Parts: sequence; structure tokens; C-alpha cells
Amino acid sequence: MGVVLPRGEGYKMGRYLGADCKLCRRAGEKLFLKGTRCSTAKCAIEKRNSPPGQHKRMRSNMSDYAIRLKEKQKVKRIYGILERQFRRYFIVAEKQKGITGLNLLRLLEMRLDNVVYYLGIGLSRDHARQIVCHGHVSVNGRKVNISSFAVKVEDVIEIRPKSREYKMVKDALEVTKERARPAWLEFDAKDLKGRVVRIPVREDITMAVQENLIVELYSR
Ligand code: SF4
Repeated sequence: MGVVLPRGEGYKMGRYLGADCKLCRRAGEKLFLKGTRCSTAKCAIEKRNSPPGQHKRMRSNMSDYAIRLKEKQKVKRIYGILERQFRRYFIVAEKQKGITGLNLLRLLEMRLDNVVYYLGIGLSRDHARQIVCHGHVSVNGRKVNISSFAVKVEDVIEIRPKSREYKMVKDALEVTKERARPAWLEFDAKDLKGRVVRIPVREDITMAVQENLIVELYSR
């Protein structure tokens, strides 16, 4: 199980507090956890794509279980979600109509912190989560400071008027102004307002994720 960190290393209350780049190196691919740095030559994966630590395990020797576990860990890390919460998303996804794996990804994609990140109000999902938690965002005119808040089609997400001059927000918008937004979201850069145009389809989710492996893992 090459993706599991030694027990306790870098964790507090179940949340990983270590270096983000280590998680990418452990996953063996870019998870885009650090905003702009991820697209530069400073990215640790660009410089050296090998697992961290002295005892580097051979990925080719991984069992089926380890491969599925690795995929789940990867998705949890991309969205910054703890195990218990991730499991809850899976249970909801299973109960919904349609394909469980896609339902799961949709639930994750439609979290408010993820939408704020996609709109370019946050440099990374982590950064977007901070912006939401600090009360800088409203949904349909009402302040929402819950990062896991699930947006719906036609919801309007905007930066609250008194937060528009906030440095963290202004800097992020400047850096992300050229970033492409997903087709299921619309962003009005003048009014700093986003809208959920439709539910994301599988083609909208461009990350290299094999959600079927997560379904298989939890279905064992
Ligand atoms: Fe991952 Fe970003 Fe660090 Fe690269 S810079 S290793 S993508 S967190």
C-alpha cells in the first residue's frame, strides 16, 4: 500500500498538515494543490517524480487493492476531504440514480469551495476553502461560509461587496483572469459573479481520475 503515509506522519485530527507536494509525489502525479506554482517548473513533479522517503516502493508491484486505495486517496487529496466525509459522499452517490462513480464526482465538483476555485476566486481548492470559510462569498445573495455547501443549477455565487477589495481575493482574481472556466459554470468578471449553468457531465471533469476504482474499493 505505497500511498499510505506512516501512521501519524504529517497528520493532526485526521487532516494532513505536511507538505502538499509530498502528496503529489506519493500519488505519482500532479494533484494541483498549490495554485500557480503547480503550473511552473518549480513543481516537485516536474523536477523529480518519485515517491518521497528513503524506502521508495515500486509502483508496478502494487496489488489491485492498493491501486484502488491509491485512487481514492488521490481524489480525497485533490478535493481536500477527510475519510469520513468522503465516505458520506459515496453513500449519497450510491443512493442517487445513475452511475455511482459519476454521482460521486458530481457531488465533489459541486462543493462551494471547488466552484469558487473554478471561478478563479481562489488560487487552489485550499485557498478557495479559506475564502469561503472567512465569509467572503455569497450564494444567491446570502453569505455562505460552509466550504462543503452544495451548489445547484442556477445558483449565483459572488464575492460579497465588502470583500471585493480584500487582498487575498483581488490577487487571486488577477492571477486567474486567463484561466479557462469549466463549461458548466459562467463567470462575469466585471460583476465578480458566477452562475451554475448546468450539472457537470463526465467530459467536464478533466482530471485524470478513475472513479470506477473507488466504487470497486468501497464495494468489496
Ligand atoms: Fe503537486 Fe502543485 Fe506541488 Fe506540483 S507544485 S507537486 S502539482 S502541489
